[in-house]
Parts: sequence; structure tokens; C-alpha cells
Amino acid sequence: MNLANLLLRTAKISPDRAALALGHSALYGYGELERRVGALATQLRGRFGLEPGNRVAIFCRNCPQYVEILYAIWHAGLVAVPINNKLHPKEARYIAEDSGAAMTFVSADLLGDEGHLTGIERMIFIDVESAEYVGLLREGWSPVASRAPDDLAWLFYTSGTTGRPKGVMLSHNNLLAMTFCYFADVDTAKSEDSILYAAPMSHGAGMYMFAHALVGARHVVPESGVFDPEEIFDLSGRYRNISMFAAPTMVRRLVERCAESGCDPSGIKTIVYGGGPMYVEDIRCALDVMGSRFVQIYGQGECPMTITALSRFHIGNINHENYLQRLGSVGVAQTAVEVRVADTDGRDLPIGESGEIVVRGSPVMGGYWNNPDATEKAVRDGWLFTGDMGCLDQDGFLTLKDRSKDIIISGGSNIYPREVEEVLLMHPAVAEVSVVGRTNPEWGEDVIAFVVTKDSAIVTASELDALCLEHIARFKRPKEYRLLPELPKNNYGKVLKTVLREEAKKHP
Ligand code: AMP
Repeated sequence: MNLANLLLRTAKISPDRAALALGHSALYGYGELERRVGALATQLRGRFGLEPGNRVAIFCRNCPQYVEILYAIWHAGLVAVPINNKLHPKEARYIAEDSGAAMTFVSADLLGDEGHLTGIERMIFIDVESAEYVGLLREGWSPVASRAPDDLAWLFYTSGTTGRPKGVMLSHNNLLAMTFCYFADVDTAKSEDSILYAAPMSHGAGMYMFAHALVGARHVVPESGVFDPEEIFDLSGRYRNISMFAAPTMVRRLVERCAESGCDPSGIKTIVYGGGPMYVEDIRCALDVMGSRFVQIYGQGECPMTITALSRFHIGNINHENYLQRLGSVGVAQTAVEVRVADTDGRDLPIGESGEIVVRGSPVMGGYWNNPDATEKAVRDGWLFTGDMGCLDQDGFLTLKDRSKDIIISGGSNIYPREVEEVLLMHPAVAEVSVVGRTNPEWGEDVIAFVVTKDSAIVTASELDALCLEHIARFKRPKEYRLLPELPKNNYGKVLKTVLREEAKKHP
């Protein structure tokens, strides 16, 4: 089983169907895409002497070449190592070296002037904008390399909010299972649809490439190569039936843009959101402004995009008695996985009790690259211990609590930052919020809230206190509120609670 066969299949059935576009410009159809993939694969094996199983890194901006490079890597039986293009060249170097990549495709402007990446000995670099790259696509063809289902396809480096990123080993079978789950649990995908790469193709957005290649949909890369709400609305007007993956922070920006300027969202078929918490207030506002076009997924590199999904139906089922609770959940287990909530010994916890989320099924990784210790900790008896905390309700809806290290313990009681954050976001002037703990010798920890207001509005502690007292237990109320112009986030848009915890220790 080689994922490259899925592209070949579409190219044979529908060679003339539009495959790739850069902004408004159509590039080529599936037949030509497959020809380029076959040529590049042949050069990778022939000219560069790469062997099945060798790793090839991609450190590129979102660009149309991404699609053909990924498939060419697989066509040749190699392993792709996509690197987030927002990383510093030094961080990219760590990943390129750790994976033992023999070659890296790069967008030259990402390399910086210091040679952090280019200094790696014996590494072959190909600039995807260069004449050399174009030369590799000119001619040649060889059959798709045979790969076993469990052979490695993608080394996915975790975002590493704590410590060095780890290489998650994803096989062809893992990615195929994830692709089937897209159809079963997330959305339809049809040949008249377009997938828009508005988020990094090295992560979630790129993972949805396969479902869309399978049905012969169009792949659209924004010309800017970045997330730009105005460009997205413009492209959705052009292509219609646009689907995309977006982190919750991106959804918020799209919604704001739509509300401010009255952009027409009707060209957007589906926005799949995930990768971080979506607060109830935010998704309600998104539904009000943009209508029913949202699906939520919960996943992690170790089980990519496929732990649970909250369907479009459930997001819109406003008359259900548990509507708000479900809207604040991440939905139900996707088809290819089993999900449990376990205690520290891995035993099932009763419905409603919070514990660690563990998952088993065909999308779950084979382990971490060259890191048996970390693998042993994460995968036990076939179950992946996600490090995320949550609880299941009687209908199978999973609500994420915070990661265990984020839970605040005050006076012996557990406080989940998320529940305090949900309440503070109800205040009309609050744009973003993040809640952390600060050591208190008497109580264990105090709750500290970092608040970003809309248009730098002033919000008083007593207003926020009153809101908390109305909705949550008194002891969960923050001891201190600090206004910030913005929250510190990593390259994936995730709030850096470690930085906030340090900040909380300092005097205001
Ligand atoms: P990564 O492996 O970088 O994709 O990060 C995965 C982590 O992001 C998960 O373990 C969760 O902590 C978080 N995450 C992913 N999806 C969601 C979601 N829908 N809601 C809240 N957190 C999420």
C-alpha cells in the first residue's frame, strides 16, 4: 500500500480535471500533476541515489510544489519530513538532522543568512523556485515503489511546547485510515470542491490533501502563502465549495473580517477547526456571522486529525437539550478509533469523571523516531496516552479539560483553566484570555487570568469577578487579572502557558 497510488488512480481516471491553482491562476490538471510527480520521483532515486525508506525534508512556504514533492517522495518509496515553515532555521536544522534526512526541499527565503540549515554536511538542498527544481520535473517515469502498509510515510514533528520536538512515525496505513475518517466523520469531498491551504501544509491542512486528491478536487494555494482572511474570501468567491482546515485563532480572524466588512461566506463549504480549544462563545459567534459551515476535529500528531469529531449537524443542533455542552465538547470518537478516559493506571473511569484520554486504532502512530523511551511512555498495550485530560458523557461526547500540567490546584481542589476562560470570554469586551496557576504557599496555587480586550477596551477586575461569581464556584475566581496587548503563542498559534506562568510570578 503506497499513498502515491491514490494520486495515480485519480490521474488515470480524470487526467483533465483541474488539480492545482496558485491564487486565481490555474496551473495544471491531474494528468500533468502525476507526470511531474513521476519525473521527480525518478530523479530522486536515479540522480540522487535515494533508496526506499530514506528521509526527505520539506522546509517550504505553502506552495503548489508542496503537493508534487510530497507525492513524489512517496512515489519513490521515500519518507516525507514536512517542517513547519514558521520555525527558525535552527529549529528546522534540528528536525532535518534528527530525522537523518538526506535531502531538503526549501523555499530559499526561509533559510536566513546564517547558514544554520545549509551548513548540514552531505545534505542536498533543492530550492523549489530554482531552475534546478524545474529541471527535475522534465522527464522520466518509474512505477510507484511498493510499500507495505506499515512502512513509514511521514515523520511528523510535534510542536514541542515542552522540550525538543519528537518525530511521530506515521505509516501509509495510518494516513489512509485518517483519509477514510475524513469521509466518514468530517465531511464529504467531491470533485467539484476545492481544498484551500490556508494553514501550514506541513500540518493539519496538508493532511487533508489526500482525501481531496482521492476524489479529484482542486488544490488551491493562496498566492500570499499565508493566512489572510481577505484573500480567503476572495478565493472562495472564485472557486466556491472551498474546504479548509483552520486553527481556532484563524477562525476568529475570519469571523471578525466577515462581520466587519460584510464579506460573503457562501463560497466556503466547510471550515474544519481544531488543534486548540474553541470556546463556546467563539463558535456561537462564528455560526451567527458565517452560518453552518463548521466541523470540529480533535487529534494530535500521534493520531493525526482522528481522535474525535463534532459534526456540522451537532454544531447546528440548537434545539438539543445538551446543545451548549456538546458545542463545548470535541464530539464523538471517529470511526477508526476507540476512545477511553483512563486513570493513571490506564483503567476506565466512570462516565463524567475526568482522566487521561487514551485512544487505539489504525491511525495511531507506530512510535517516536529513534526514541523508544518516549514511545514506551506514550503507547501502552496498544493504547496511545494522549496527555490530554477529558471526560465522556453518556452519549460518547468527549469534553477536553486542560492538559494535566495546566490544571490549577488551589486549596486541594482542581480548577480547569478552560472553564474559567469560557466564563471570562462571555464578557463582550474580552477578545482572548488564558488562565494559569501561580504558586501560593498557603493554598497551593492562585488563579491568574491574562486578558486581551477588544480594541484595547478597559475592563475592570470587579466586572470580571462579577461574571465569574455568576457562573462558577467562588474558589475558581481569578485572584488577579492582567491585561495584555496579545497572548504569547508558538508557531502553531497555541498559547504558551509556560511563558504566562513565568509572567504570573513577576509583580504586575
Ligand atoms: P499537535 O500534535 O501539535 O497537533 O497538538 C495536538 C494537541 O492540540 C492535542 O493533544 C490537544 O491538546 C490540542 N488539540 C487538538 N485538537 C483540539 C481541539 N479540537 N480542542 C482542543 N484542543 C485540541
